[in-house]
Amino acid sequence: MIKVTDYIAGFKALNKGDISIAGGKGASLGEMYNAGLPIPPGFVVTTDSYKEFVKDISNEIYNKLNNLDVENNQALQSTAKQIQELIIKTKIPQSMQDHIVEAYNALSQFSQEPASFVAVRSSATAEDSAEASFAGQNATYLNMKGVQKVTAAIKACWASLFTARSIYYRIKNNFPHDKVFIAVVVQKMVNSEKAGVMFSVNPVTQKRNEILIEGTYGLGEAVVSGAVTPDEYIVNKENMEIISRKIAKKEWQFTRDEEKTIKVDIPTEKQELQLLKEHEIKILAQLAAKIEQHYKLPQDLEWAIEKERIYIVQSRPITTLTEQVKETPVEQPQQEQSDLKELLSGLAASPGIGKGKVKIVHSPDELDKIQQGDILVAPMTNPDMVPGMKRASAIVTDHGGLTCHAAIVSREMGIPCIVGTSTATQIFQENQEITVDGTKGKVYEGLQNIQQEKPVEQPTNQEPIDTVIDVKVIMDLPDFAEKAAKTGADGVGLLRCEMMIAESKKHPSFLTKNNREQEYFDTIYNGVKKVAQAFKGKPVWYRTSDFRTDEYRALEGGDQEPTESNPMMGYHGIRRGLEEPKILLTELKAIKKLYDEGLTNVGIMLPMVTHLEQVTKSKELIDQVGLKAEFGVMIETPASVLIIEDICKAGIDFVSFGTNDLTQFTLACDRNNENVQNLYNELHPAILKQIEMVVRVCRKHHVQTSICGQAGSNPEMASFLVKTGIDSISANPDAVHKIRQIVSQEEKKLYMDIMRKRIEQKERRKK
Ligand code: PEP
Ligand code: MG
Repeated sequence: MIKVTDYIAGFKALNKGDISIAGGKGASLGEMYNAGLPIPPGFVVTTDSYKEFVKDISNEIYNKLNNLDVENNQALQSTAKQIQELIIKTKIPQSMQDHIVEAYNALSQFSQEPASFVAVRSSATAEDSAEASFAGQNATYLNMKGVQKVTAAIKACWASLFTARSIYYRIKNNFPHDKVFIAVVVQKMVNSEKAGVMFSVNPVTQKRNEILIEGTYGLGEAVVSGAVTPDEYIVNKENMEIISRKIAKKEWQFTRDEEKTIKVDIPTEKQELQLLKEHEIKILAQLAAKIEQHYKLPQDLEWAIEKERIYIVQSRPITTLTEQVKETPVEQPQQEQSDLKELLSGLAASPGIGKGKVKIVHSPDELDKIQQGDILVAPMTNPDMVPGMKRASAIVTDHGGLTCHAAIVSREMGIPCIVGTSTATQIFQENQEITVDGTKGKVYEGLQNIQQEKPVEQPTNQEPIDTVIDVKVIMDLPDFAEKAAKTGADGVGLLRCEMMIAESKKHPSFLTKNNREQEYFDTIYNGVKKVAQAFKGKPVWYRTSDFRTDEYRALEGGDQEPTESNPMMGYHGIRRGLEEPKILLTELKAIKKLYDEGLTNVGIMLPMVTHLEQVTKSKELIDQVGLKAEFGVMIETPASVLIIEDICKAGIDFVSFGTNDLTQFTLACDRNNENVQNLYNELHPAILKQIEMVVRVCRKHHVQTSICGQAGSNPEMASFLVKTGIDSISANPDAVHKIRQIVSQEEKKLYMDIMRKRIEQKERRKK
């Protein structure tokens, strides 16, 4: 903790009115600190320190200045030099020195380093910066470490009041030398792993609702000086959504090597990775908006990240905006929302705003009470609840993560949804009026008018974007097939049958065990037909049934389901299909009938593959029904990743990454357990490495690769996948267009790289 004394002031003790004590820079840092901004820690050596320091030498200084002819350059230079030397060689009074040392040591403790690297900067008391610069109050000493160097730098800042230029300026402007004071800012140097600049208003397009962030590896000087092409991210200031990202090839960085800044090469495998994590982009954007709000002016900021800690190292008004943009009152991005009373928050599972009366539903028997437009609040939804979900204007659950039932179904139906709130069913009253913001994951009191975010759709007046990599859609509800087809998707990368089963209200095991296969056949045939027709001419990969023992108990005959302590790892997927072949065969026969009727765009995909025999045996059953369909497996267990070569050799046409399960099984995180959602991360290196490896092996065996887990709707994952060489990506209907834009951008980059390499080769040949 830095104490406040006459000599020293911590940033906490200062605000923008303290220029006479702390100079302009020091006062502004105090203001930022107290506004809650993450500035690097530091302190100010106050103007009182300077006054006391020069007290004993002031006569000597002013004697030298009296009678100086400033037009005599030699005399001016020599006098300036003498005064500066006098300041440098004068000892700082002991008690002042003690305070400085104490404050510096406190900084080092913060940095958990024996001695911290700091920047020592003069902080002018003259408010007008032009005057300040002529007054010579702009000395800066970077990378100072240790008490001796820091105190020397502080004295050098004081001495900077007496450069030849400063002396000349004061005399010519009749400014008394003894009325000019200086403070010194001592601030921790951030040894950043990533750094850059950002603008709270897009300076390129001049759009006020866009925040532009640029960054690269290492120290920020590389971006500030324009020496490198940084990554560029544009964020919508109103909803903090990332609108676009341009990932640059980052070949070198500036790094601090003891006291020097050196240039080092970035390892090839890191060069083209996205620099900032999603949450870092959002935190930076939120900071930019907050600072703009604080200063009521668009800001130009410098930021740095060291050991995952984000710092704002510089903030100044943007000076390059057109007058019109500058004069428009600054939007208060959160203002509208600040009037709202937030009741609850959770995971934003499906975007959009829904408002209405709460209906708390604990079991499907209570569904009748849901009227069109009500808000369905439940511990968790299950497939039996789909009819009630369709009538709801929004859904809120206590449990679940982004791949739980409520999340998947509401996204497909286009209903706003928040999951994993823990307490929704307890804190809401039946019939209470609420507003659900599924984009932000927040619930507000009453019926509020929050502006609805427009879904990103393929604009009808534009040519569809053409991508080499197909962008497909994920489907669960055949009634929504036409809607899904309108996204312009290149097919259906995952057609689940579990919702079709749930709507039929009869358990497949119960039906097939009681010779009622025909009923199950009809359910599958009718459901898949709707989708195959809506996507005629495009592939539809039907995933054979994957119902878990806990989810379908409410269906007719479901009470005979075994009770499992861990259904996620239990009796479901292809292991069950082969154990109860009548179920699997009925599904295959339903698809065969579609083929016989000319709907030959349906492929067969196996879920939860862990053993090679599951693939070979399923193939035999497909042959047995005489089905000649595309055949593939989901890669959603680490086992399937590790035996991918053998699976390819068994004869498959495609694989598709089921990242929802692959993530839960790799990271040992139950995907429905909100207590471990903080660890559930589809972009974990362990997942990415598995994907890379499988794509590599599949390419060798000419097996198509795809993804159908929720992660395919994540732009960051999509950018990564394009670089792996994947053949297609499946996304939720609301994300298809956005993912196609990302794919298109990434493909262009790859193309440009190939061309650039060719040009380089050509140049080399010429030499
Ligand atoms: C997956 O696991 O990623 C997947 C798509 O399957 P489901 O979500 O149905 O388990
Ligand atoms: Mg799965």
